[in-house]
Amino acid sequence: MKQTILVTGGTGFIGSHTSVELIEAGYNVVIVDNLSNSKIEVLDGIEKITGTRPAFEQVDLRDFEATKNVFLKYPDIEGIIHFAASKAVGESVQEPLMYYRNNVVSLLNLLELMPQYNVKGLIFSSSCTVYGQPNPENLPVTEEAPHQKATSPYGNTKEINEQIILDYIHSGANIKSIVLRYFNPIGAHSSAHPSALIGELPNGVPNNLIPYVTQTAMGIRKELTIFGNDYNTPDGTCIRDYIYVVDLAKAHVAAMARVLDQDTDKIEYFNIGTGHGNSTLEIVETFEHATKVKVNWKYGPRREGDIEKIWGDCSKANSILGWKADTPLSDVLLSAWKWQEKLRADGVM
Ligand code: UDP
Repeated sequence: MKQTILVTGGTGFIGSHTSVELIEAGYNVVIVDNLSNSKIEVLDGIEKITGTRPAFEQVDLRDFEATKNVFLKYPDIEGIIHFAASKAVGESVQEPLMYYRNNVVSLLNLLELMPQYNVKGLIFSSSCTVYGQPNPENLPVTEEAPHQKATSPYGNTKEINEQIILDYIHSGANIKSIVLRYFNPIGAHSSAHPSALIGELPNGVPNNLIPYVTQTAMGIRKELTIFGNDYNTPDGTCIRDYIYVVDLAKAHVAAMARVLDQDTDKIEYFNIGTGHGNSTLEIVETFEHATKVKVNWKYGPRREGDIEKIWGDCSKANSILGWKADTPLSDVLLSAWKWQEKLRADGVM
């Protein structure tokens, strides 16, 4: 019998890619999303790629009764992958209570309902943001690295949520969890057929690097500003561990199989990245090389609060989950560009 997985935030960027991988791995998928930052048409993309349309419920997870009704309607749910959250760092500084309510209350509701409805496993989307700027001798950063005080309410919700899950499991709750700490997810599902594409759809002016690069290449933005070139890195620009969203999605499938089907610790933590760092400048140059499209860019001042350099030691996930992110960066950047071209062809932007 196919196992049923609830994917919260399943029409979002990472959620949609993970839903595809779950379906292709043989799971039943139920998506819950309040569509606050994604579009219902994403379900068409998932269906075109996989041949299966996942069940969908437009529910706001802050609403306890509505969330409970999802478990009543789908009594076979065995595991949850919890993506649904607000994720804009700057906005979280402006609207802290909204961030705490969205990101913390949703998790509390799910945790409370899990034992009642016999849901065994929770995969939680956390972030390398919990490590702050690691000391240089701690790079690449492992799961054991000390956490640092969050610099935004968004980052703080990741730290708080990790702690809530740990406390709940320590209290003896009959659930298990795997916490995945993502590095920088980028790219889009690639397909020979443009209708079978899903990707990232930022609202308004993008904050993240890759959508800014693809929009500049498309002429939607005049110029990319590289924030700072006086960092202590080889070319002076910041370094991140950019991971292909499809590779990231596959990590969730491996984690779900482990949490549900194997006799493991009740809570485990994994870094999910490539294990390599690339500078902002390298990203722009690799993009131009892969796509043969020029990107207008200039150096500008540093962005407040930016981490200088971080990349992950992902050997724990490689060995224990049997998973590795190995898609070449140029292919990943090309997939982001194909997605941008589809958005243009569809008249979205
Ligand atoms: N970045 C940039 N220009 C932009 C957006 C981002 O130079 O318009 C840089 C940013 O300073 C950081 C890297 O790209 O060094 C990744 O930024 P992003 O916001 O995508 O991820 P995060 O900072 O959360 O790792």
